[in-house]
Amino acid sequence: MIIIKYLHIGIDDTDSPEGMCTTYLASQIISEFKDNGIELADYPRLIRLNPFARFKTRGNGGVSLKICNDDKAGLAREIVLSYVEKLSMFDCDNTNPGVIFYEGEITNEMREYAFRAIYEFISIDDAEEFGKAVGCEIHKFKKGRGIIGAIAAISLPLDDFTYELLTYRASENYGTKRQIDYESVYLMDNETFPDTFENIDYSEDYIAIEPKTPCPVLYGIRSNTVRALETARNLVKVNEPIVDECIFKTNQHTDMHIQKAESISDMKQFGCYEVIGEVKNKPKVIDGGHMFFFIFDETGSIECGAYEPTKNFRKTVSYLKPGDIIRVFGGIGEHNTFNIEKFQVIELNDVEYQNPICECGKRMTSAGKNKGFKCKKCGKRISSSDKIPFKISRKLENSQFYETPVSARRHLSKPICRY
Ligand code: ATP
Repeated sequence: MIIIKYLHIGIDDTDSPEGMCTTYLASQIISEFKDNGIELADYPRLIRLNPFARFKTRGNGGVSLKICNDDKAGLAREIVLSYVEKLSMFDCDNTNPGVIFYEGEITNEMREYAFRAIYEFISIDDAEEFGKAVGCEIHKFKKGRGIIGAIAAISLPLDDFTYELLTYRASENYGTKRQIDYESVYLMDNETFPDTFENIDYSEDYIAIEPKTPCPVLYGIRSNTVRALETARNLVKVNEPIVDECIFKTNQHTDMHIQKAESISDMKQFGCYEVIGEVKNKPKVIDGGHMFFFIFDETGSIECGAYEPTKNFRKTVSYLKPGDIIRVFGGIGEHNTFNIEKFQVIELNDVEYQNPICECGKRMTSAGKNKGFKCKKCGKRISSSDKIPFKISRKLENSQFYETPVSARRHLSKPICRY
């Protein structure tokens, strides 16, 4: 049996808010690999890490490539390092690229490290120590913070995954309005959803495949299958040149950032969880349009927030009422508030209580605390203070999931259409 040895390549932290994108750098490297007869052993991977990481530019994504560790591996390393040197946004203080080369099998401890990079914060020193201990060749540029994500990008197992097709613009068009024919995007969504998803936010009439930053990406389409991406690419029309394109295998939209919490007190700030709780109070909007309410269980309570950018989702949240049991998915942010990405109704509280109706047909009123009820019309009194339960209709449904709109969704959040 022939055992193929692989070289894993991880790259992160090459871009800045002013430009570049690590996926573009990867696609340039892949083109150069092709010109030199170097083949990838699998799709390039775009791995999203801790959504709360402090120094992220946008979506905290690292990239990894896997090739055969043969006589071309030395050349591959040279190509990677020269492209990172050439294209990284070194002028930005927060751009601190890191490149990792790793020969051999990904070990369990590397897989565990990758999950830590999604769930927790890791320092550059810890990443470097870990990388050296497992045998990574480490290249730091400036502070080299990118090694944190680069090690995770090569190490993360992808039991669940999606694909993203990214197309890239000609450099002279960077920063200008993207020339995408929106009608064709609606058509593409119509023909390929739910195999592709997150294309359009219909509630906001927002074209989500189009980035809003000056980066080289023209558009990105997300999908469960490569075949659907190929169909989608043929349907989307643009009026500017596409100089390159690349399909990445990714942990986007898998909920990989979400940990199952047994109880509310198990959750920590800057972690992302799913947890079950009972709604304590009617959701309320505060200045700025953010909506808040508390959930509780036997271990404690936490404030949940549906923020202004989640738009219509706040309306759905407003239908919750005290006594509803819900499973919330989201992360605990800066103000210790649970930022809801979606929720599932476990059991609606569909019972309300009212005063009894008198024999004469009139609704009775309270006769005072613990003094029962009296009828203002005929004067009848009853001694029991028990109100009468009645079933109400609700705008929410048991077992249903309710999610934030596409325009406000995290890269890692699993949309309902993927369930
Ligand atoms: P883009 O989405 O455009 O690729 P980005 O949001 O991924 O940009 P980066 O420029 O890659 O932003 O910066 C994120 C930085 O955070 C990287 O240096 C990465 O190594 C680091 N990082 C990733 N995960 C963690 C973590 N768990 N703890 C600390 N730092 C992290």
